[in-house]
Amino acid sequence: MIRYLTELSLEHFIEAARNVPYQQIQSDLFPDVDLWVRRDDLIDPLISGNKAYKLIHNLLEAKERGLDTLVTCGGAWSNHIHATAAAGQRFGFNTIGIIRGERPPVLSAMLQDAERLGMELQFVSRADYRRRHQPDFCANAGVNTSGAWFIPEGGANQQGAEGVRLLGRIIGETRPVEFDECWLACGTGLTLGALASALPSSIQPVGVAVLKAEQSIAEALEFWRANSQRYLKPVLINDGYHGGYGKSTESLLAFQRQWERQTEVPLDHVYTVKAAFALMRHCAQNEKNIRKTHKESVLMVHTGGLQGKRGLIKK
Ligand SMILES: *Cc1c(COP(=O)(O)O)cnc(C)c1O
Repeated sequence: MIRYLTELSLEHFIEAARNVPYQQIQSDLFPDVDLWVRRDDLIDPLISGNKAYKLIHNLLEAKERGLDTLVTCGGAWSNHIHATAAAGQRFGFNTIGIIRGERPPVLSAMLQDAERLGMELQFVSRADYRRRHQPDFCANAGVNTSGAWFIPEGGANQQGAEGVRLLGRIIGETRPVEFDECWLACGTGLTLGALASALPSSIQPVGVAVLKAEQSIAEALEFWRANSQRYLKPVLINDGYHGGYGKSTESLLAFQRQWERQTEVPLDHVYTVKAAFALMRHCAQNEKNIRKTHKESVLMVHTGGLQGKRGLIKK
């Protein structure tokens, strides 16, 4: 059974994705729902979660075009930078990461990993980084992009979205039960929008915003609505501000400890714990408000991010 990504081909990736386990959750934190977690954190130990899906068509595109280098950008704890560095090493691409902010005296554990995986790091000031959507961004950072495939921050391009749509189709094909809802954590909202456009229409996608990025999420969802063949109505819950990006609060940490003890599913503190926490609160609300006619089945997609746990700042 293929689980890890050892070969760069679409067939291999699809097989690995089809083998991602669905884990049924037994926990008193979620009474009255049949909760399952799709363990996309396990698709590969290094190229993990939704970032694996956003990368696959980027990697295939670079290979098809005969390009030997991947250039991308992100912050010091970016899961996308980490996954790109790992993918480059695994599949034989040079990788260059343009990193937001001055080079610190001591690199974050994540950036140390990226370097160890062979990624060349180019640091740019926060002001320069803000111009990351401009065509001259790489040149200004001193990065030569001839022979290179540029992947925007977070894997947010057409190829990234196409990979996420693959995830939606695979969930449709492999789901162990009929799910009513599919929950996941949202940063930019690209994953939510692209997934929503490919999931079976009987499944309601629900995104939990973990950052103050309503504008970008609204734009991502609007794009998918405009481009979708069917009526799209993903739900967004602005529930994740608990102390800000990358920070955690006592109540979240307590929830995380309890969840991890009861389910043995590890969560990261930036994204997945907030999706699970929001789902728990939603279930508690529902219990009070509605007399349900059937027990809802909910799928939570584990979008990965576990490498980032090392960056936890307690608040
Ligand atoms: C990047 C990331 C997300 C957010 O994905 P978007 O497409 O930006 O919404 C969610 N969870 C994890 C673990 C991530 O690394």
